[in-house]
Order: sequence, then C-alpha cells, then structure tokens
Amino acid sequence: MQDTIRALRALQELDTDIYRLKAELKRLPEERANRRKEIDQMLARSETLQKSARELRAKVKEIEDTTSKERQRIRKLETEAANSRGDGAMLAAYQHEIKTLKRSISAAEESGLELVTQAGTVDADLTKQRSTIEEAEKVFAEFSGNVERETAVARQELDRLLAERKRRMSTDVAPESLGLYERLLLARAGVALAELDGRICQVCFMEVPTNLYVRVTRGMALNQCPSCDRILYQRNV
Ligand SMILES: [Zn+2]
Repeated sequence: MQDTIRALRALQELDTDIYRLKAELKRLPEERANRRKEIDQMLARSETLQKSARELRAKVKEIEDTTSKERQRIRKLETEAANSRGDGAMLAAYQHEIKTLKRSISAAEESGLELVTQAGTVDADLTKQRSTIEEAEKVFAEFSGNVERETAVARQELDRLLAERKRRMSTDVAPESLGLYERLLLARAGVALAELDGRICQVCFMEVPTNLYVRVTRGMALNQCPSCDRILYQRNV
C-alpha cells in the first residue's frame, strides 16, 4: 500500500499543477473580457455625452432662429410705427409689442448663453474622456497580447502534464484506489490527498482518532480523513 500512496502523491503533485493551469486558462480570458467591458462602458458614456452636446447645440440653434424672427418682426413694427402718422393708439400698440419682443429676445439670449456654457462643459468632459479611453485601449491591447502569450504557454504546459499523467496512469495503482483518488479529486477541487501531521489533517485541520492515526502510520490500506474525506498520508512514508 505504501507504493500506492507514493504513486498517488506523485499523481497529486501533477494534478495540482494541472488544476492550477486550468484555473489560469479560465481566469485570463475572463479578466480580459472584464477589462473590455469596462472600456465599452466608457465608450457608451462618451456616446451619451456626445448626444447631449448635440442636443444642447440644437437648442441653441432653435433659440437663435426664434430671436432672429423676433428681430425681423421688431424691424417691421418699427417701420409701421414710423408710418402710423401720429395715431397715438396705434403707436402705443406697436411700442407695446416691440417691448414685449425685446424682453422675449433678452430672456432667450440669456438661456442660450447658459446652454452654450453647458455644451462647453460637456465638450471638456468629452475631451478628457476620450484621452482616458485612448489610454485604456493601449493598456488593454498590451494586456490582451500578454493573455495570448500566457495562454499559449499554459496550454502547452497543460498538454505536457496531461500526457505525463496519462503515461503514469498506466502504472501500478490498483483501479479501485485510482477510482477513489479520481472521485476525491473532482469532489475536492483538485486536492484528493491530505497530509496527516501528528493527528491533524493538514487540509481541513481536524484531529483524527488515534486508531485511524495508527492505521495511517502502518500504511496497510488507504485511509480517509473522517472530516474532509481526503486520503491521508504521512510525510516521511
Ligand atoms: Zn481532513
């Protein structure tokens, strides 16, 4: 049985690396996707800003068109007033309308000015955001390249380890021992063995009963931790 334990420990060493590489191969593209998502969100925000800048400018244009019509109307009224030939009531009516139009123009110009200021602020934000995005894209491109390289290296290493594992599987571990190991490997996230130090399992840190400790020391059979189920071994066996 000591041979079996030794073979399983060697297998566990290999499997620990295999699990690490598999996790790496999963993590790298995930991190790349997360980074891409962040940049896409920035791009979406910048599009929203562009839209609001366009809307502000359209409103300014609208105000300019209105005030321009109102000015034309004032000129027309002034001409008509000049031609009213001393008709007091008519003159008063023209002057009243001119005054109203001038007030309206003045109010519109004020809000137009406010909108132009707002559009300027949005433009400044946009410029800042564009340079942030540009910088983020550069960092992303570099990261993405690294992911490609690291992924290729990890895949190659994984293939090598899997081939090595296949080679070792055909050695002399009894099928039922191997079956137990494989089940635990899957159920316990890649850690099927646990070192027993004194009476303490070094994975789950629970104390095992003395009779189990003795059985593990004698190494007559495969013994499992009562708490985490892992196959127990002693370092110097
Ligand atoms: Zn345990």
